[in-house]
Amino acid sequence: MWRPGPLRAAVAVSPRGTAGSPRPLHGKVALVTAATDGIGLAVAGALGGAGAQVLLSSRRAHNVERAVQELRGRGLQVSGVTCHVGNAESREKMVQAALDTFGGIDILVSNAAVNPHLGPALEADEGTWDKVFQVNVTAAAMLVRLVVPHMEKRGGGAIVLMSSIAGYQPMAGLGPYSVSKTALLGLVGALSPELLPRGIRINGVAPGLVQTRFSSALWQDEAVRDRALETLGAQRLGTPEEVAQAVLFLVSPQAAFVAGETLLVAGGARARL
Ligand code: NAP
Repeated sequence: MWRPGPLRAAVAVSPRGTAGSPRPLHGKVALVTAATDGIGLAVAGALGGAGAQVLLSSRRAHNVERAVQELRGRGLQVSGVTCHVGNAESREKMVQAALDTFGGIDILVSNAAVNPHLGPALEADEGTWDKVFQVNVTAAAMLVRLVVPHMEKRGGGAIVLMSSIAGYQPMAGLGPYSVSKTALLGLVGALSPELLPRGIRINGVAPGLVQTRFSSALWQDEAVRDRALETLGAQRLGTPEEVAQAVLFLVSPQAAFVAGETLLVAGGARARL
């Protein structure tokens, strides 16, 4: 007899959170890292707006406090905790905070990244490569490991790793960062077949150039911005909210048949490995 398989189990749908409902994430708990600014903050807002209870985090307590107040001011169910994703103890504390505050975890958006090096990749030293891979790649893999048992207890879940257009098309001056984002494409592919039998879908989102503090060196100067957009083949800069909508889709029941994929959200930019 034909069986739909584990894809069907991904993000179980609660009575008031059905596909097509305005609150498709009602009853779900979402953990979002690096969520006090830019794309992460927009993701936390979009998931909260879709009915999820959101635990947001970043390194600095005053940023966490500000972001929580901002989203609560919009009527969303949000709590916050500090977490430097590169630190194992800090990651464990964040996961425990989600369990203590909301009673479980259904969704993880791993969004944190660093880029400590601007210049030729050949000039990046071993410490730089280690740091970039530790925060951007290893921490994401370790976070997935931490949340999986809790998602399994809830009957499944959905995970999104934040990659980048730079993962497909290495950007000049951003060598180690670009390679780390390519590694995330591979991480999604490697983890997906292991997670699907557990009812968990993992996908990636690869934004193009989005107007945030992180990318300001690429858009603040008009000439630099125009050159970057032309190189990428993109029409314009994106907004954090546009990226957040892609994340929302991937963690929602509407994407129940999408797994092991990385979605490019890049305004027409060309991308291939
Ligand atoms: P952003 O607006 O500058 O925000 C960065 C956020 O990360 C802040 O909330 C910051 O808060 C937090 N953060 C930084 N280091 C952290 C760490 N080690 N652990 C936990 N939180 C940390 O950045 P963004 O542009 O939205 O970038 C978010 C993600 O999108 C990154 O993965 C980036 O690679 C990706 N991305 C961005 C673009 C773009 O054009 N902007 C394009 C492609 C991909 P604290 O300072 O309080 O920690």
